[in-house]
Parts: sequence; C-alpha cells; structure tokens
Amino acid sequence: MRVVIVGGGMAGLVLARGLMARGKTPLVLERSPESVVVPGPIMLPFQAFDPLEDLGLLAPIRSMGRDVPPFRNGEPVAVGVGRQPVLAMLREGVTIEWDSEVVELIREGDRVRGCVVAGAGGARRDIPADLVVGADGARSGVRDLAGIAAEVHASGTAAISWRSPREPAEPFEIRFLADGRQVTMLGWPGGAVGGWQIPRPAGGAEEAMAPGLDVYREAFGRLLPGAAGPLEEVGPDDWFYREATEVSCDTWWVPGVALIGEALHAMDPEAGIGSGLGMGDAQALAIAVSRNPDDPDAACRDWEHWRRPALAPYLALGSAGVRVVRGGPAPPEERWPPGDGGAA
Ligand SMILES: Cc1cc2nc3c(=O)[nH]c(=O)nc-3n(C[C@H](O)[C@H](O)[C@H](O)COP(=O)(O)OP(=O)(O)OC[C@H]3O[C@@H](n4cnc5c(N)ncnc54)[C@H](O)[C@@H]3O)c2cc1C
Repeated sequence: MRVVIVGGGMAGLVLARGLMARGKTPLVLERSPESVVVPGPIMLPFQAFDPLEDLGLLAPIRSMGRDVPPFRNGEPVAVGVGRQPVLAMLREGVTIEWDSEVVELIREGDRVRGCVVAGAGGARRDIPADLVVGADGARSGVRDLAGIAAEVHASGTAAISWRSPREPAEPFEIRFLADGRQVTMLGWPGGAVGGWQIPRPAGGAEEAMAPGLDVYREAFGRLLPGAAGPLEEVGPDDWFYREATEVSCDTWWVPGVALIGEALHAMDPEAGIGSGLGMGDAQALAIAVSRNPDDPDAACRDWEHWRRPALAPYLALGSAGVRVVRGGPAPPEERWPPGDGGAA
C-alpha cells in the first residue's frame, strides 16, 4: 500500500516512523521549507510515551528534556523538551518532500487515488497513493478537499505566554484560577515558558497586552513566585498573545483518505495532551496498515475501531475537562487585566 502523509508535524512523523518500523516506505509531503525551525518547548504528555517507545525514541527524547513529576513505575507524567530537537529526531530516515503543499486530491469515482502538490515555484505534480493521510493540522486542507465535515471554531480561552532563556528550579508549576483556567510555567533545558490563560477578549492581542509587559511580569510573578527569576529575562519580543483553534470531526476517513492528529481533533493547549493524542492516532494507524497491507479501507476500519474508544473520553470532555474549578469570585491577584498591586 502506498501511503502518502500530508504534514510533517509530530503526528505525521510518528506515523511515518511507525510505518517504516513495520517495513513500509511512506512519503511525507510538507509545505514548509527544510530550514524551518520551530522554537520553544512542548510538554510531551504520558499519552505520547507508548508511541515513542514503539519507535525506540522515548529514552533519547527524555534524555534531551526534563521529566515532569509525579512518577509512576519510574516514568514521569510528562517531559518538557524542545520542539525542534524532537522533530529532528522523528525526521531521521524519513523521506520528506519539503516545499510541497498539497492543493488537490486525485479521485477515481468515490475513491481518492492520490494528491496534487504545488512546489515552491508553483509547479504542480501528481502523487499517486492508496491512502492519503491528512496530518496537516487544525486548518487541514486535506480534510476540506476530502469533503469531511468538521466543526472548527476559535477556543474560548486565549493565552498570554512568554519565553525566557533562564531555566527555573522546578520542571513544571501550575496554579488553577477560580474559573479553572491555568497559569503555568514549564522548564526545559533551553529555559522556561509560561502562560496565563484568559477568556478570549473581543479586542484580541491589543486588548490582552494593553497592560504592558512590566505589569504582566509583576502580576505573573505574584501568581507563580517560581517564575520571578525567568521573568526577569523576558523582553518585549518574548511575550506573545495567542488564540487557539478547536476541531471536532465525526468522520475519520473516507475511501483513500484518513485524518490524524489536529486535523481530526484539535483542543485548546490548556489540555496539554494534543501531541500525545496525535501520536497515539499515528501509532494505531501504522499497526492497522501493517495488518491490512493491501486494503486501505480495512486498515482504516480497524484503526477507527481500536482508536475511537481510546480517544472517546478526551473528546467527550474537551480541553475544559482539565479544569480544576475552585469557583467563587477570583481574588484580586487572579483578575484579568492585572492592575496596580493586583488590586484591580
Ligand atoms: C501554543 C500551543 C501549545 C501547545 N502545547 C502543547 C503541549 O504542551 N503538549 C501537547 O501535547 N500538545 C501541545 N500542543 C498541541 C501540539 O502542538 C499538537 O497536537 C502536535 O504538535 C501535533 O500536531 P499535528 O502533527 O497534528 O499538526 P501540526 O503540528 O499543526 O503539523 C501539521 C503540519 O502540516 C503541514 N501542512 C499543513 N497543510 C499542509 C498542506 N496542505 N500540504 C503540506 N503540508 C501541510 C504544516 O506545515 C505542519 O508542519 C500545543 C499547541 C499549541 C498551538
């Protein structure tokens, strides 16, 4: 079976490696150039451990990062690690065509038989495939081209985040606010990242960042005192506002096309498990393809049959399912926007 994977993010690369480990030779099409560098860390949750262990990569990835406690049977609940080194490790040995954006699907009756790729100069090529896997993220073009309906909306939670080159003492700190949203800091060998989650403001970045970096830094440090040191090295270019896209999708595949990762289910990052769920999709699909080497529909049926029950609790709860809601009025230091001395 010729498998073409659209998207060289974590889900697509784990699928490629999982297929290669089972004797297949998939092709990954990635629209970015090879020189792309993805900055900052990710907190790889325990849901990513099985898929990475399957590839023999859990131990090397843990050695590049910082374990996040608590531990069970010697394994942490998560690992804080640079995104770029993880992607570089996952890419090893994978055939990736860079600067290759999938812009169309090739059809034969009801079945997709491949895709059309536009290269950097705009030249188009046909790539035949028995199974095209959309691992192309929350704004998946493959999903749209395949006519798979999805609910796509902006999350109700936005975040103001920062990056610092200074590594904190603790690998991870979290404070749940009265409404259950989080203020967090993750340490990794490259420093620290922090984020304050707020209800998405109507005025977007301008409204969210209006209090200014100094007020933000001070208010954040009051909520998570361990962040005070790393925050000292956060400059005007190191803090960011971001909104997230959420996706839910009831159809997982159609003849010749399957979706995995954020193309299939994207949650607000407050859930902290997106990479683990995407890697789990990828691992299950690699096993299903290897067990049905000549029948893409049977592979997709098996995959959906195994994977749906595993994902069901996460999809039912959504990202807000991780909230620890204390309720009641927020104390002054938790209120957004922060004011003088947190007394706003
Ligand atoms: C701010 C933020 C913080 C997060 N933090 C965490 C965290 O701490 N822990 C965690 O587990 N998860 C986290 N996540 C989620 C996590 O990043 C993703 O779930 C994970 O990276 C898997 O994504 P993916 O591979 O499905 O998609 P993506 O990473 O979006 O990759 C999709 C790839 O497809 C390519 N592509 C898109 N369209 C095309 C096309 N038409 N043709 C070719 N290529 C295409 C893109 O260039 C991209 O490389 C976070 C997400 C965000 C936004």
